[in-house]
Amino acid sequence: MPELPARSIADVRLSEVFDRGGCPLCTQMARSAATYMNSFLYEGVTDVGFRRELDRARGFCRRHTREVLAANRRQSGGTLGSAILFEAILRIRGAELEDALASRGNARRKRLAEAARRAACPVCDVEAKALASAIDSFHGLASVAEWRGAIAGSPFCLDHLLALLMHRPSGEAWDEIERAQAARVRDLRARLERFSAASSHDRRHRITADEQRAADDAAAFLGGDSAEAARPRKAAAD
Ligand SMILES: [Zn+2]
Ligand SMILES: [Zn+2]
Repeated sequence: MPELPARSIADVRLSEVFDRGGCPLCTQMARSAATYMNSFLYEGVTDVGFRRELDRARGFCRRHTREVLAANRRQSGGTLGSAILFEAILRIRGAELEDALASRGNARRKRLAEAARRAACPVCDVEAKALASAIDSFHGLASVAEWRGAIAGSPFCLDHLLALLMHRPSGEAWDEIERAQAARVRDLRARLERFSAASSHDRRHRITADEQRAADDAAAFLGGDSAEAARPRKAAAD
C-alpha cells in the first residue's frame, strides 16, 4: 500500500491498518485491545483504579480472557500478571457460584442466573471506542483520493462494512466506496459458487487460486478477522 497523506500522527497510525491486507477495522480493534492489555498487564495489576474497574466488570469476556493470557505470555514469557488478575476475578465469580450452590429453590435459580451474567469486559469497551473513532476518521478522510482508494479497496468484514456505511456522509466519495464494496461482495459470492460447482463436478483441476481462497475469504467476511489474524501477516502459507 503506498503511503497515505496524513495531517497528524493519528492519521499516520490509522493508515497502518491497511498494511496487513485484512479488514482494517478488525485490525484497528485488535491493535487497540493489544495496546490496552499490554498496558494493564504492565502496570494495571497494581493500579487501584483499574482493579476496581475490573471488579465492577466482573472480569473479561471469554475471548479477551484468553487473549489476556496470550498477551501476558508474549510480553513477559510468563503468566504472573494474568494469574493476579484472574485470581481477583475468581474471588468474585467463584463466590457467586458458591452462593448459588449453597442456596435452594428459587434463590438458587436466581443466584445461578446472576452468576451466569456476562462480564462487562473492559477490553471490549476499548475495542468499541476504537471502532467508533476509526469509522469517524474514515468518514472524513475519504474526501482525500488516496484514502478513498484504500477504503474502497479494503476487504472489510460484513459487520464493519455495515457499521462503516450506516452513518456515512452523503456524496460521490462514499457512493464510489459503496459501489466498490458491493462489487467485492458479489465477486466473493461468484467465487464461492464457481468453487463449489467445480469441486462437486470433478473439475478440480480448473479451480483458480481465487476460487481456492473463496471459503477463507468468506469466513473472514462473515466472521471477521480473529485477533490472531489481525497481527502482522507473514507470507501466506499457500
Ligand atoms: Zn472487521
Ligand atoms: Zn471482551
